[in-house]
Amino acid sequence: MNKKKNIADQINPEIRDALLEMGADGIYRCYQCGKCAGTCPWFPVGTYDFPIFRLPLEAALGMIASSEDKDELAAEIDKIYRCVGCEACVDQCPHGINIPSIFRAGRRLLVDFGSYPEILKSTVRKIHDVGNPVGEPREKRSDWARDLNVPVFEPGMEFLYFSCCISSYDPRVKSVARAVAGILQKAGISFGILQSEESCCGEAIRRIGSETVYEEVAKANTSAFERNSVAKVLVNSPHCYTSFKNDYPELGVKFDVLHISEHLSDLIESGAIKPDKEFAKKVVYHDPCALGRQNDIYEAPRNVLRSIPGLELLEVENFNHGLSVCCGAGSGGLWMEWDKDERIAGVRVTQLIDTGADVIAVACPYCLQMLEETAKSMGHDIPVMDIAEILAESCL
Ligand code: SF4
Ligand code: SF4
Repeated sequence: MNKKKNIADQINPEIRDALLEMGADGIYRCYQCGKCAGTCPWFPVGTYDFPIFRLPLEAALGMIASSEDKDELAAEIDKIYRCVGCEACVDQCPHGINIPSIFRAGRRLLVDFGSYPEILKSTVRKIHDVGNPVGEPREKRSDWARDLNVPVFEPGMEFLYFSCCISSYDPRVKSVARAVAGILQKAGISFGILQSEESCCGEAIRRIGSETVYEEVAKANTSAFERNSVAKVLVNSPHCYTSFKNDYPELGVKFDVLHISEHLSDLIESGAIKPDKEFAKKVVYHDPCALGRQNDIYEAPRNVLRSIPGLELLEVENFNHGLSVCCGAGSGGLWMEWDKDERIAGVRVTQLIDTGADVIAVACPYCLQMLEETAKSMGHDIPVMDIAEILAESCL
């Protein structure tokens, strides 16, 4: 007969102390109210049981990834890599506990032991080897701009435009970087790119738990910025934005960062960009977690869409702005392979389509890739477009 284990026999103070050292703050403040679990995007998935409210208690007892049983350990690793870092739970906790930072501490521990999903090991390896998660050569990073006359950044230019790895290399998402460059050129903005001197910002691998490779790429980028006297960086990915704005200052470097939606909104307001061609479609805007909830940028992308003639802007009722539901691509989720009926993106695609929209608008390359691929796999042909692509259709 299978005997249930006593919790007292499983307590592991060494793991608890290691988790605390790796950033699992606030674990003793949890009083198991369960409010966090109700907002987690895994909750409406329904087919996957993910009781995140247990995590702080398990961390306080050192019961994370501590089993010596192979199957139990594999289940623990799977659980720890389910969190997509959307931070919906952070807003709900009455005691200010940051659940994703506890998951991240657990991941740092697993990465140190080499016990994490193979697919993510491959992502981390590619970023270490060639500076991007797709494994393409550095020299091809600026291929998206080849026929656009985008100059190499020089000291004195106003902006470094840092197109993220996905919009630099992915054949579909490259069109976002091309739209951004075209609009900036038309508005007469002084900007350049650093081509193969750029490396992945490292946001995703830091959240996967690979602190060492994150530091490598972050230092490579900050050295390149310093070498080229970069003072302002313009990004189209909210993940690069959050990394540059919230993580890089720990390295003691100073530069300003702007998300493209903020800059485009300002350029439209000042009259430097004039959207004049009709885009007569119903467009629903999906708030990316890393832009909205994590950096409080909600109105700038909506302002861009509202400025376009003929466009009718829709919202997902109840689940917009800070209550937007994650697409599932953050914290390594973009590369994870979960069962078809176990995908957060499926829930979000259904919510977005149910608004009656003709187009889904995003302001993040991860959301673009995740929502587009998921919608297709569910048999929907609704286009998913970045706000820059929609604006380009109206003003170029
Ligand atoms: S960050 Fe998001 S996915 Fe992770 S536990 Fe919190 S609500 Fe769930
Ligand atoms: S909401 Fe906060 S206090 Fe309540 S169970 Fe979750 S982490 Fe614990």
